[in-house]
Amino acid sequence: MTSKQVTPPAGAVRLSKEAASAAVRPLSGVRITGGLLHHWQRRNSTATIPHTIEQLRAASNVANLSRLLEQDPPPYRGRYPFLDTDLYKTLEGLAYELGDGSAEEGVRDFYEEVVTLLERVQAGDGYLNSFFQDPAATKKPWEDLAWGHELYNLGHLIQAAVAAHRRMGDDRLLRIARRFADLVTARFADSGVCGHPEVEMALVELFRETGERSYLDLAAAFVDRRGSGQLKHSIFPGDYFQDHVPFRELPSVTGHAVRMAYLAAGAADVLLETGDATLAEALERLWDDMVATKLYITGGLGSRHSDEAIGDRYELPSERAYSETCAAIALMQWAWRMFLATGAASYLDVFERVLYNAYAVGLSADGRAFFYDNPLQRRPDHEQRSGAEAGGEPLRRAWFGCPCCPPNIVRWMAQLADYVAAERDGAVLVAQYATARIETAELALAMETGYPWDGDVRLTVERAPQGAYGLALRVPGWARGATLTVNGESVPAEPETGWLTVERTWTAGDEVRLTLPMPVRAHGSHPYLDATRGALSLARGPLVYCVEQHDSPQAAVDDLLVGVNDATAASTRQDGLAPGAVVLDVQAHPAPPPPAELYPELPSPGTALPGTKVPATFVPYFLWGNRGPAAMRVWVRTPDTTNGKKAT
Ligand SMILES: [Zn+2]
Repeated sequence: MTSKQVTPPAGAVRLSKEAASAAVRPLSGVRITGGLLHHWQRRNSTATIPHTIEQLRAASNVANLSRLLEQDPPPYRGRYPFLDTDLYKTLEGLAYELGDGSAEEGVRDFYEEVVTLLERVQAGDGYLNSFFQDPAATKKPWEDLAWGHELYNLGHLIQAAVAAHRRMGDDRLLRIARRFADLVTARFADSGVCGHPEVEMALVELFRETGERSYLDLAAAFVDRRGSGQLKHSIFPGDYFQDHVPFRELPSVTGHAVRMAYLAAGAADVLLETGDATLAEALERLWDDMVATKLYITGGLGSRHSDEAIGDRYELPSERAYSETCAAIALMQWAWRMFLATGAASYLDVFERVLYNAYAVGLSADGRAFFYDNPLQRRPDHEQRSGAEAGGEPLRRAWFGCPCCPPNIVRWMAQLADYVAAERDGAVLVAQYATARIETAELALAMETGYPWDGDVRLTVERAPQGAYGLALRVPGWARGATLTVNGESVPAEPETGWLTVERTWTAGDEVRLTLPMPVRAHGSHPYLDATRGALSLARGPLVYCVEQHDSPQAAVDDLLVGVNDATAASTRQDGLAPGAVVLDVQAHPAPPPPAELYPELPSPGTALPGTKVPATFVPYFLWGNRGPAAMRVWVRTPDTTNGKKAT
């Protein structure tokens, strides 16, 4: 939620890497008008939002509030104390829809109904939470900061309120949010922190919207109170809450993935307003380590179902990837803020990777069903079902008992235009490519492209700025041989630190064309990444590809051998899954029959190995771990065989 043009403080932070020439500001004057992202946004308006409203009603999220107006309220419905956030996230998305006129029928009524309910239900002191306000609630307000989610609730309320104020000019939600925030500012002035980070981002936004400094100070305090022993870890260990060491001392992203990424995004917001150098160092270090060791190739974060946790470095199993959809959204929020703090294009590369893969996979093609976790592999015997078939694990579901992801998808889809471009003094930066109209105080641009299906981008100046002005175009890290023309004339296109910048005096009608070649790429894995060693993954542009058995009629997908150059042709899919979608035609080799044994004995090595040798003693597996902490492997790398067969 960084839709307003905010003014960063003087001397805004410059990180060591790829330092920007000036601080970057978000830009609210973008509208997506065509292409895949527009298709997604229309699907959000016409399918996902009506479906979400239906599900919120069916799951009693609205009734949980309205019942509090009754004399003898029925019990709260739902297992979790944070179900109000599903309403707040939806309201945040609706604020964008209502603000730009894209909302469908019935949306305004739902918005008005819920806002009115919130006004009526809010306690006299500003407190608001339909679980804890229940006279029959099993816990009292603020009794269980680790698991109560009360500040997490407030965070989502604030984000909805700020969106409504900015986009619709409606201050009703903002008044509600401020009353609650003021209560919290007083209550938490000296101590206390929430078990689920999220409110940090929201409080910084509330500071930006209102100018009230205490909100920013509280956000900064919440970042720094973690790891100080203020939370009682009743159910989960300290690292689950990122509460085992102070944030600035975290060696690596850890614990519950969504908590971690929301916390880092909130810390990045604090950084944007304060320029705190040690916070910058910590965020940059955590980010770099995460990208180098803990992200799935899809941009998914979190490899453990247990505790919904991130896992160790290189622990990235494919079929058991957790990679929660909410973590994808949180990661984009963190990436965007790091971009604003630094101007570095590399953060936007990750943003894009997440957007088109780990985030997009969370929603069905029809916009009415969702993945909570997003594996990168399904085994042929994995019991799964779709539609009304009985038995097994469903594919995407219409809703969840813990429905954090669906309304998160809704709000993020509704605000995608906020992440297309940004500005700094004297320049516009195009962060993501989409058919869109970009408008700032100085200029208006029309952008047309078939991205991500093709890499041709045309920008036409509709209103030119006075004097020299820069247009900075991101060249993704995967792009090689980008070319650029201005009014048909070639411009040297050697991107520095991921940007191609053209600075000149513009005239209405000027045309800039960027071409990003999109050959098919084959990616391998780091050698420590055991789960995918010896395998490759195909990608084209920002998209990671997969093969489903439906599309491999002559061989099981487990028996396909694909070489680096086996997939070069691209064609357009006609089945309507996504308009214009490009698929890859692969000529794979069928694998020889696998060995019958699960662990076949290896033949003698036949390949020349390096002349030098190093000693190592292997001990029986059952004896490991008796001499203090140390790395351990049962499987070790072998240079010349795979699965008992000679490598070819
Ligand atoms: Zn979620």
